[in-house]
Amino acid sequence: MPHAILVRQAGGPEQLSWEEVEVGDPGPGQVRLRQTAIGLNFIDVYHRSGLYPQPSPFIPGVEGAGVVEQVGPDVEGLKPGDRVGYAGPIGGYAEERLIAADRLVKLPDDISDEQAAAMLLQGMTVDMLIRSVWPLHAGDTILIHAAAGGVGLIMCQWAAALGATVIGAVSSDEKAELARAHGCHHPIVYSKQDFVAEVVHLTDGKKLPVVFDSVGRDTFVRSLDCLQKRGLMVSFGQASGPVEPFAPGLLAQKGSLYLTRPTLFDYVATREELDRSAESLFDAVRTGKVKVDIGQRFSLSEAAEAHRALESRNTVGSTILTVD
Ligand code: NDP
Repeated sequence: MPHAILVRQAGGPEQLSWEEVEVGDPGPGQVRLRQTAIGLNFIDVYHRSGLYPQPSPFIPGVEGAGVVEQVGPDVEGLKPGDRVGYAGPIGGYAEERLIAADRLVKLPDDISDEQAAAMLLQGMTVDMLIRSVWPLHAGDTILIHAAAGGVGLIMCQWAAALGATVIGAVSSDEKAELARAHGCHHPIVYSKQDFVAEVVHLTDGKKLPVVFDSVGRDTFVRSLDCLQKRGLMVSFGQASGPVEPFAPGLLAQKGSLYLTRPTLFDYVATREELDRSAESLFDAVRTGKVKVDIGQRFSLSEAAEAHRALESRNTVGSTILTVD
């Protein structure tokens, strides 16, 4: 029988348990997928910890790639042997899984399974952020937090390739160098430097039209202080914990700011949106705008170790779980 990682009770990484699972035949609209690589994402921590509650037991993981093994009734356009990837449907930490066919993206020959598993969620998120949420233009100056992380390294490269000036906040000198090597023009080591003061300094007091904040609780209010009047705060994650509740008047006090809290799944909800976003990402890789850095590999059975590394900020770039 195939194995998967199950969570029976929300909690720490120790709740991730390697078990045999029954997969079964695909139902209408589903395929059975044999996975070759699985993406690790911060949302997996939110699921495991109970921040985003799930019915238990459940199999975490929202990103992967592999080969279609079996096709259920009413599935069009896919056949056994096709290479596919996905970002979305939970249940990814598994050697084999069932998945809705309409959430799968066929992988082009020049995109490997590992690349797909390492970038589909994080890369389509960047596509959402810089094309839909804030259509980025050459000459824009932006701030991205966690600039050496999975989303961060893709964002630095892609935004720089589009002609933006990228300011990136990171926790260490090593991460600052890595971000710089991926297109971040001004890395700020926020553990040593006040990132608001640095943004004011780097922009000659003008501050920024947009900030991309995935850290959440620890940075939210100070990120607002980096914005120009009528600037856009994009709060798209909460690695340090959820943002504390606040009164909308705060946005007026800080300069008539706009706030959005986007989630990728609302931006790739239709088949057309999903295909457009995936193709935009594949094209960015193909044209050399984005190189996907797999910073770490863990065996799927060692998912708990991968979670510990991610939560203790010991990962850089993307992380994949390998299927042995
Ligand atoms: P990362 O690789 O970016 O890892 C998280 C990083 O956040 C860490 O490396 C660390 O970087 C930073 N961080 C700051 N504070 C903490 C803390 N208290 N604990 C742990 N890490 C902290 O993860 P991902 O690329 O997978 O995701 C990045 C963010 O984007 C997450 O917040 C995620 O939820 C969000 N996201 C949102 C999506 C959406 O649809 N809205 C989709 C995909 C991702 P450093 O050491 O430099 O501080």
